[in-house]
Order: sequence, then structure tokens, then C-alpha cells
Amino acid sequence: MSLPKSIKGFDRYEHYYFFTDCMLCDCVKKHRLAVSSTPRFNGDEEGARSYNVEVITIRCSCGRIKTICDLDEFSDFHLDAIKHFHRRGRTQEEEDQDHYNVSLLARYFYYLDDGKYEKNIKFSSAERETQEHCYFAARRRVVEGEAEDLIKELIAKNSHAYSQAQEDYKND
Ligand SMILES: [Zn+2]
Repeated sequence: MSLPKSIKGFDRYEHYYFFTDCMLCDCVKKHRLAVSSTPRFNGDEEGARSYNVEVITIRCSCGRIKTICDLDEFSDFHLDAIKHFHRRGRTQEEEDQDHYNVSLLARYFYYLDDGKYEKNIKFSSAERETQEHCYFAARRRVVEGEAEDLIKELIAKNSHAYSQAQEDYKND
């Protein structure tokens, strides 16, 4: 079955197929979106207990697996992001541009909080959760096609957070 239009049409027992470039195979391959079960751990090392969670994964026919998110977090945004970042015929230039926009805007959202800049805490040293939060916001702009306009606007108004993001990206 092909990917559903929206999350309302998503059936967790269904397997969804689409063709996209595989980074490992370096060619267009059939991929499957499905629910998988994966172990997770909680507690400290001694008392760690493993339990299974259901996650959304994309699996290439070569076996390469990428986890998208937990099943209960799966939203229209994730679905749109899969369609955007895995669309067939996406050129290398488009991929590089998306990568650049996501990296830059994630840093921009991070440095919007002046304290981060003042205290000299680099984006790369921020907590993983904070970084992911910023990446999520950046990906949203890219998927919704707003990244280019936002960047133009930030350059036009000489945004301090944006210059900081650029500086940071160059030195990373
Ligand atoms: Zn593959």
C-alpha cells in the first residue's frame, strides 16, 4: 500500500511501501514504513529493566532500518517529513540544501535564547533534548516550505541569532 494522505488514514497493521534513495545502497530501492517493536531500558545500570516500545520505522529492502519516532508520537508532521525527505527523484543539490537549511535553522532557534549566546554554550554542547527540539522546529520549516523565506527575512533584518547560527555552523 502507498503512504496514507494523513495520519487519520494510517493503519498500524498495514505495511506501506514507497521508492526512495537508500544511503547504503546508493540507488532507488523499495522501502517499507511499518510499526516495529524495539527494546528500551529504564532505571540505572544495576536496576535497568528492559521493556518493549512500538516505533515507526522505515526499512530498505537491503535491510537498513531507520527509526522515525514512537508510535504514539506519530503525527501528520512526521508523515509529511517522510514524504519530503524521501521523495523520489530528489536531487543531491536539493538534499544538500535541505541539510544546510535544517542545520542552520536549528542553530538559529537555539541562539534565539540570548542566554545561550551570553554563556557561550555552543549548540553542539547543548543537551541532546534541546538540540532535538531545535532540529524539530527547523525540519518543520523545511517540510512546510518556509525555510528559504525565513532565512531571507533573517538576513534582511540582520538577525543576531542568525549570524551566531552561521558562525557556529561554519566552525562545527
Ligand atoms: Zn538499502
